[in-house]
Amino acid sequence: MLGSIFKPEVPLGPTRDILITCHASATGKGKLHGSPECRTLRSAASVNQIDIPFGEAVERLCANCRWPLPTDSPILPLGAAVNEVDSLTIWLDREPEDEEDVEAERDAAMALATGDYPPHADDASDEEEEEEDDEAGRDEEWERYDRARDLRSGRHEHWRRLHSYLARSNEAVAEYPFLAPWADGLQSRLTGVLDAERRAFVALVQPAHLLEAAAVRVLPAPRFSGDPGFAGLGAEAEKTFRRAWYEWSRRAAWSWRRLEDQHFSVYTVVSDAFGRRRKGKPEAHSAFRQLTADWIRQAREQAGSPASTPWQLVAVKAPALPRTHHSEPERDPLTIWEASVIATYQVAFNRKAGTTALLVPHLIAEQLLTCASDDMPVQLLAPQGSALPAEVLLEQWDHESLTRS
Ligand SMILES: [Zn+2]
Repeated sequence: MLGSIFKPEVPLGPTRDILITCHASATGKGKLHGSPECRTLRSAASVNQIDIPFGEAVERLCANCRWPLPTDSPILPLGAAVNEVDSLTIWLDREPEDEEDVEAERDAAMALATGDYPPHADDASDEEEEEEDDEAGRDEEWERYDRARDLRSGRHEHWRRLHSYLARSNEAVAEYPFLAPWADGLQSRLTGVLDAERRAFVALVQPAHLLEAAAVRVLPAPRFSGDPGFAGLGAEAEKTFRRAWYEWSRRAAWSWRRLEDQHFSVYTVVSDAFGRRRKGKPEAHSAFRQLTADWIRQAREQAGSPASTPWQLVAVKAPALPRTHHSEPERDPLTIWEASVIATYQVAFNRKAGTTALLVPHLIAEQLLTCASDDMPVQLLAPQGSALPAEVLLEQWDHESLTRS
C-alpha cells in the first residue's frame, strides 16, 4: 500500500530513481494505481500502463492500491522503516486530560504514598466489632487503592510503549539516515509526550521504596534458628524458612512496593507448607510476621546507612519492548524496579541515542550496575567527578564500546 505509507513529505533517498509500474487513466491526469482493476479507475475510458520513477510517482499514488513489487525491491524495507517513524504520529496531539482524570491521578498518588493497600488492612481481622458504615467505607478504600494501582500500571506500560516506539524509530533512521530530516520533527514531539508520560508515572512511585528494594538485595541470607513459633512446621521448618526468604527477597528486590506490602508472599509460603493442617499455623504465621518485620528493619537500616546515600551519575540505555504479534502480550525485559529507577532518577535523556542519565543514591547505582547486560548497558558517568552537565556527559557516553568489550 505504497500510497498510504509514502506521503509526499517523506524523503526517498536512492529509491526515488527506481521505476515502478503504474496504471493511470489515458488522460494522464489523476492518481496512479498499482492495479488496473482499482475501483477508482472504473470510470476511466481507457487505462494506460506506465513505468515511472518512484520519486515522481509518489505525489500521485492511490492510497487504496497495492503494488506488486518484486520481493527484493528496496522500496519494501524502506516502507517498513517509514512506517516505524510514521507510527509516532498516533501518540501526538492527544486530547489533554480532563479535570476528572487529573483528580484521579492526584488521588492515586496520595493513596500510593502510604502503600499499595489501605493502611491497617492487616489489622482488619483483629477488630472485634465492625459498624456497617465502617465496612462500606473499607470497601471504598479498597476500591480506591485498586484504582490507584491500575493507574500506576497503566502509566508504567504506556511510558514503556512510547519509549519503545521512539527506540524503533531511531533504529529505522539509523538504517536510512536520509529519513532524519523528516523524522526529526516527529521524534522531537514524541520526546515531549514521552517525558510527560514519564512524569505522570513517577508521580505514582515512591523513591524510598526503590532504595529499600535495592537494600534487600545486599542483605545476607538470614540464618535459620529454631523459633518456637515454627513448631507446627516440624521437619519442614527450615525449608519453609528458606523458601519464605527466597520469595520475599526476590519479590521485594524487583518491585516498586513498600516492603510491608510483600508480606503476602511469605504468608502464602507458610500456608502452603501447612496445607490442610491447622495445628500451630497461627503461631507460625505470627513468627514469620516477626521475621519479615526484622528483614524490613535491616533493609531500612541498610538503605539509610551513610554508604548507601551519596549520589552518583549513571548512564543507562533501556531496552525496547520486544516486538510481538497482535495477540501476544508484551513481555518487558525491564523489571518493574529497573523501569521505576530509570523513570524516577532521570536527569538527562538523549533521544537520538535512546540513553538516559540518572542521578541515583550509591546503593541504587550498585544494584543497577549488576543489572547491566548487552541489552541494557549501564555505566557510571564521570566516576571521578566532572564539571560538565549530565547532558554533555551522556552525549559523550559510548555504550557501544561497552557492549563490544
Ligand atoms: Zn488505486
